[in-house]
Amino acid sequence: MRVAVVGSGLAGFTAYQALRRVLEPEEIAVFGTDDDPAAAFRRHAAAIRQRAMRSESDGHCLPATFPGLAFRASVARRSPAPLVGTAFDRFHPTVGEFLAHVERLRSRSGWERSLVRSRIERVRAVEGGFELDAAGVFPHVLVATGHPGLHVPEELRGDSRVVHSYEPHDYASSVTVVGAGLAAATEWLNALAAGSEVVSVRRREAVRQPLNVPREYFSRRGLAGFHRLGHAERAARLRTLLAPSYPPGRAFDEPLATAAREDRFRIAEQVNGTEQVICATGFRRGFEHDPLLARLVDEHGLETAEGWIVLAPDSTVPALTDETRTLSLAGVAAQWAFPAADTLTGARYVAHGLLDRIKACRTR
Ligand SMILES: Cc1cc2nc3c(=O)[nH]c(=O)nc-3n(C[C@H](O)[C@H](O)[C@H](O)COP(=O)(O)OP(=O)(O)OC[C@H]3O[C@@H](n4cnc5c(N)ncnc54)[C@H](O)[C@@H]3O)c2cc1C
Repeated sequence: MRVAVVGSGLAGFTAYQALRRVLEPEEIAVFGTDDDPAAAFRRHAAAIRQRAMRSESDGHCLPATFPGLAFRASVARRSPAPLVGTAFDRFHPTVGEFLAHVERLRSRSGWERSLVRSRIERVRAVEGGFELDAAGVFPHVLVATGHPGLHVPEELRGDSRVVHSYEPHDYASSVTVVGAGLAAATEWLNALAAGSEVVSVRRREAVRQPLNVPREYFSRRGLAGFHRLGHAERAARLRTLLAPSYPPGRAFDEPLATAAREDRFRIAEQVNGTEQVICATGFRRGFEHDPLLARLVDEHGLETAEGWIVLAPDSTVPALTDETRTLSLAGVAAQWAFPAADTLTGARYVAHGLLDRIKACRTR
């Protein structure tokens, strides 16, 4: 085996599709907890009843951006609308279309032949590569372990009214939604549609932008500037870029304005006496919360900055990567290299970096 992927979620799966360009399924081992690469995404999207993807046509798991999901949707819907929409950044595949795409790729890519149902506790640099528990030594390893659990603000832990937005739930007749990102905005509309009175509690005014970071950070030019920043500046920039946001548009504004007029939607400074409190507060932040990454950093003395592991622009770990071996991080852990790492485009970015390293490797 040449390559190991630790984590069988969407980032690991996207990397797998790229690796399959040069490797057979038997040359790749994917260690993970779920057979279905979309398991975590599916669970979270279902909990907030998300119907359309935030990402656009290129939000898929294939190594080449084009043709994206707009092309397939145009064929399937027998309509040019998705292709026309994508020219204006207005096309968003449905969650169902995206999940069907994952399912198709899963069955045709050999994923099951590479998958090993097991959680890896430790990645240790050794002669010739990286030892993964007792599973062996691999010269090239991608760690794609996803988010380290859901975040609930400390003051709300233990409150019996609280449910996290990414856990299954219904809506009480009065609901406070904590948060200001897309999950919060989706929950405002869900609760209003269910007939609830809704209070929005947020620390800051919500940022309105189409994608989860500004579009320029998806381009080579925007990234080059980001990669030139020093550690303190880069950490500060990341904090700004990753502030909660949701897309602009009437789909949110109109129902909220109507509900505000009817006195069914208001903004408050803190949680008060509603029957239910929904924490749309995302995930715990920082590598320290992921036992595998925390141990990796600790045992190898890796450089970190404010909860991020310092990475090279191609998302490899500089101290443990050379011309004979590669350690890459994907998903949220790769934000130091690509601010939107926790998206499908981010997963593809990391996948290409890994593939280039493997192709250039002396001992490949
Ligand atoms: C509601 C929602 C909507 C989203 N919408 C979009 C969108 O429209 N467009 C977009 O591009 N992105 C979107 N995203 C973001 C992104 O696509 C997901 O966060 C994606 O699931 C990240 O994939 P991942 O592989 O990093 O993590 P995950 O999918 O969480 O997978 C990580 C996997 O690794 C496993 N694992 C963890 N530790 C270990 C270990 N030690 N050993 C082995 N396995 C381990 C976990 O059990 C899990 O199976 C959305 C996210 C959410 C939550």
